[in-house]
Amino acid sequence: MIQLLKNKSMAGIYHHTPFCLSKCHYCDFYSLAWKEKTIPQQELTHALSKEIHFWQSILLEKLKADTLFFGGGTPSLLDPEYVEKILEQVHKLTEESFQESTLEVNPKTADLDKLKSYRSLGVNRISMGVQSLDNGLLDRLGRAHDAQEALQSLEFIFAAGFSKVNVDVMYGLPGQTLRQLQTTLEKLQKFSLKHLSAYQLIIEEQTPFYQWHQQGRLDLPKDDIVEDMEKAITNFASSKDMKKYEVSNYACDGHDSKHNQHYWNYDSFIGLGPGAVSFLKLEELKKDALPMSLQEKWDQVQSSKVYGLRLTNKRDLKAYHKYAGSWEALTTEFISEDMAESEFMMMGLRKKTGILLSDFEKKFSKPFPEHLRQNVEKEVRRGYMILHESGFALTPKGQQFANEVIAGFLV
Ligand code: SF4
Repeated sequence: MIQLLKNKSMAGIYHHTPFCLSKCHYCDFYSLAWKEKTIPQQELTHALSKEIHFWQSILLEKLKADTLFFGGGTPSLLDPEYVEKILEQVHKLTEESFQESTLEVNPKTADLDKLKSYRSLGVNRISMGVQSLDNGLLDRLGRAHDAQEALQSLEFIFAAGFSKVNVDVMYGLPGQTLRQLQTTLEKLQKFSLKHLSAYQLIIEEQTPFYQWHQQGRLDLPKDDIVEDMEKAITNFASSKDMKKYEVSNYACDGHDSKHNQHYWNYDSFIGLGPGAVSFLKLEELKKDALPMSLQEKWDQVQSSKVYGLRLTNKRDLKAYHKYAGSWEALTTEFISEDMAESEFMMMGLRKKTGILLSDFEKKFSKPFPEHLRQNVEKEVRRGYMILHESGFALTPKGQQFANEVIAGFLV
């Protein structure tokens, strides 16, 4: 066990802010439209400290977490004083200092002073949801800001001294033309961006968009237009010296998201806040600190080789305030080794570099299994995957159908 823990890989910590100025029509993240002047930060601080205590009680030892991500919701609604309190708390869970500490910013929620304060607290990367710089589209998406406010926020971010800056843009939006996307990219050209996340719209259930789509009210662009949009994004990224390194992400050398790499590398992570998900290997947990029902399940599943435990905070703010730091706040799921291997494949194939066989062997302490090898070979024959010296990756054609290819690895 000591040997295993010495070799344990790096991990990430995620903190979820469950509030937004308003709900966007396409979004299924857990967040509440908050109309009050301030968000209930004291209650959140109190609940967070209970959660931290909980994690201290079940972790065998501190994590080697080298990244922190403030996501949401809208974390830029948080006052810097509260961000400072969160930092104090989360540092209790890791023996490392954070190499990368990202905070998501939404336009209209952070002025220059606030951004400077975040930076002075150690936040060293900003990710901003721009989505589009077309006011008609922003309105259709239900975004709380207009194009001018997004541009102003970007000015503030750079003026505050951040050099690691990501923007999110969306494409394949209802009514969106190629020209509208190109205009958005042209307006972003003047900023010294080092990272871009470009997401094609996915219609998620339980969103207004889903309902409108069912009713035939969303005029989504045709496939050939979407392809042209992807080309426009790739051209924009190249003009900024960014390379595609994941299905939806582009970065200049050394500017890839270290935190997201933890998800794609299938590393451990702890998620704090309502709706947040955590994933730990069994060897990182204290069995006797788990409730009896879980200990019994652990015994049953040990024989059938379980890899880890996924813990999900309920998507319920009131329950979070009441139960944070107890098992009542969570749903749990043991992840079998077979499932873990499939998930490792699904996450790893999102990366441009794909999967190294040595990474698989290191992660699971065994050779690459035959059934996965056969699946890889099938995709190679279809032209969706390519073998390279030390592993395999999606081809450009495979990337186009990434979701379909990746889903083929699910057990
Ligand atoms: S701001 Fe982001 S998290 Fe909030 S509703 Fe819109 S997309 Fe969802």
